[in-house]
Amino acid sequence: MVPEVTHDVAARAELAPVAEAALPVRAAVADVPGPPDPTAGIMTEHAAVRPTWTCTGCASAWPCQTRRQQLTAEYDGAVVALSLYMVICFVEVSADLPHATVGVLYQRFLGWVRPR
Ligand SMILES: [Zn+2]
Repeated sequence: MVPEVTHDVAARAELAPVAEAALPVRAAVADVPGPPDPTAGIMTEHAAVRPTWTCTGCASAWPCQTRRQQLTAEYDGAVVALSLYMVICFVEVSADLPHATVGVLYQRFLGWVRPR
């Protein structure tokens, strides 16, 4: 069951174990506490700057095209885990950008995730 998307802090805390389970093994080994931080645990120039969610590498809206390609490669064969990770990011961006249109954020964070 997918928890309802909300800005509620308690709901985000509830999602933290799901997010940790969704992380690739190498990120879990890094022992990153709490919900996933797009700027931590992964070596990339294309990390998210919060709360604006712009890319550190190219200043595009995160995840930029390069980061999407990196994430697709990192989660190769694990589209459900990638989807869970992006859902957590979606919840976080929804809290950081409360006036953004949900449909636009959905397409930006989840609309590009496809099974191979
Ligand atoms: Zn970028």
